[in-house]
Amino acid sequence: MKKGNINVSVENIFPLIKKFLYSDHEIFLRELISNATDATIKLKHIANIGKEKIEVGDPKIEVKIDKKGKKLHIIDQGIGMTSDEIEKYINEVAFSGAEEFLEKYKDSAKDSGIIGHFGLGFYSAFMVSKKVEIISKSYKNEPASHWTCDGSPNYTLKEHDKKDRGTEIILHIDKDSKDFLEDNKISELLVKYNKFMPVPIKFGTKEETIEQDKDSKKDEKPKTRTVDNIINNPNPAWTKQPKELKDDDYKSFYRELYPMQFEEPLFNIHLNVDYPFNLTGILYFPKLNNDINIQKDKIQLYQNQVFVTDNVEGIVPEFLTLLRGVIDSPDIPLNVSRSYLQADGAVKKISAYITRKVADKLSSLFKSDRKEFEKKWNDIKIVIEYGMLSEEKFFEKSDKFALYPSVDGKFYTYEELYNKIKAKQTDKDEKLIILYASDKQTQHSYIQSAKQKGYEVLLLDSPIVGHLLQKLEGSKEKIQFARVDSDHIDNLIKKDTSQVSKLNDDEKKKLEDLVKETIDDEKFIIKLEPMDSSENPFIITNPEFMRRMKEMQQSGGGGIFGSGNMPDMYNLVVNTNSDLINQIVNTKTKKKQQKLISQSIDLAKLSHGLLNGEALTEFIKRSYEIIK
Ligand code: ADP
Repeated sequence: MKKGNINVSVENIFPLIKKFLYSDHEIFLRELISNATDATIKLKHIANIGKEKIEVGDPKIEVKIDKKGKKLHIIDQGIGMTSDEIEKYINEVAFSGAEEFLEKYKDSAKDSGIIGHFGLGFYSAFMVSKKVEIISKSYKNEPASHWTCDGSPNYTLKEHDKKDRGTEIILHIDKDSKDFLEDNKISELLVKYNKFMPVPIKFGTKEETIEQDKDSKKDEKPKTRTVDNIINNPNPAWTKQPKELKDDDYKSFYRELYPMQFEEPLFNIHLNVDYPFNLTGILYFPKLNNDINIQKDKIQLYQNQVFVTDNVEGIVPEFLTLLRGVIDSPDIPLNVSRSYLQADGAVKKISAYITRKVADKLSSLFKSDRKEFEKKWNDIKIVIEYGMLSEEKFFEKSDKFALYPSVDGKFYTYEELYNKIKAKQTDKDEKLIILYASDKQTQHSYIQSAKQKGYEVLLLDSPIVGHLLQKLEGSKEKIQFARVDSDHIDNLIKKDTSQVSKLNDDEKKKLEDLVKETIDDEKFIIKLEPMDSSENPFIITNPEFMRRMKEMQQSGGGGIFGSGNMPDMYNLVVNTNSDLINQIVNTKTKKKQQKLISQSIDLAKLSHGLLNGEALTEFIKRSYEIIK
């Protein structure tokens, strides 16, 4: 037997490691299984190149709990280590790696996000163990060795009688870590980190029903047999070529990734590059609703089939964090902070590649089956609109697939919409106004009125639409969006200047004062307009600009207005050509005039969705009085 002293300058790394890595203890299992996987793949590789004759068989990795002995075993049938190799790779490499790690991250280790992504390798075993043993037999013709260490720089190394090839790591689990002796805990970790690792991982056994013979009795209990419980799928869909996969394969892989998700994805994008960086993966477009925040962070990041994290912030553009699926790339540096990650050249390229692939997929879906694409629009628009707003490159491509639906269920591309409205334009120099509604129900009367005048009304109802319209107006020429109930409508309403108001200036002044007095509310700006007599006598509109700013504040990023509160402001347009207004003007008593005005204004408020609470109760009561 050999006793030795590991050459490290930090006296006892053990307590230090425990302290610094406290929050991420569980990664030890991922690290040890990664080592076991590497050892198995290396063996297959050596066998493949055929230099030496090796019986590879069907190697697997086994994880075993010994509850009584308070031990956890990780056993592989891989390449193994000779005693010299243990000295070299474990005593020198692994320990110096751990020491270097500590030196580097002593101060920043608590800064979350680093540790979990930085493999501490073999040494992480000491985070949960008071003693670790390695029993290993190399594929080379040498006796097996047995290494033992309690985390101090002292170790022992002696021969062992292990006959079969491979490595067994035995962890003597510490009192503080006895969770890791529970079946449930280990099973949970294996599923979390190792679900798609490339070598089968056995954890316990399970019963499996055997297919019954034709002539067995009906009421006989089905026969079962005990088989290995393999927890992983070593060949997940993303590691295959797109041409090997059918639509159903993608769907069933989605269910494998999200077993609790019952809704099927709308479509998927298979990522597959090997130059200038290596990346594979499958992204899915799920059905999305308008609530952005609860739907983020479902994409899982892997490196060579080892799960790393489900926080892909900084790796994919923000808007794509709404998608689901898997990205696997060994080229993403994870031992750095997130802010550094975003500045990393390789990561920038990866992010740009993914954005381009998503845009290309959307264009091709649109081109190949527009009807299908339109059907899906409502469920995917939030991602697309979010992307148009936040990624310039995506915005540039979006003209090919971004849609603008009308309240009647027609869908236009930007170009189609522009041409349609342009064709109706009379004054060539004037801005084109595109009308939209954000809610078909509450804006119903405004929509009707715009449609009657021959205008196409869009239905744009996502929470970020204010920001998007702002962006479109800024980048497209001479267009302006206006909600159907906004003040821009004033310009579109048929003016009737021939009649130039049936009222003279004196009458107008009196009317304005009377309305002001009756409404008695500073939120309303009163405007007298000579409109067509068929238009309503009172119309409430919102200043488009103010309302949009307010909406943008509510959905985040209020721009120049910061987070200050914007007041609600409304225009109350009085149609001086309407019969009712003339009737009001000619009514004798002021009391009667005011009664007519408040009843009419309440009707205008009602159609703008502004009448509620006490005012609504009053209105209903008053209305019954009138019809009595
Ligand atoms: P890394 O895996 O990053 O190289 P580790 O500290 O995890 O660092 O392991 C150090 C070395 O020990 C490995 O590179 C490998 O050569 C060897 N090793 C660790 N575990 C095994 C194993 N199960 N079978 C064979 N060799 C192993």
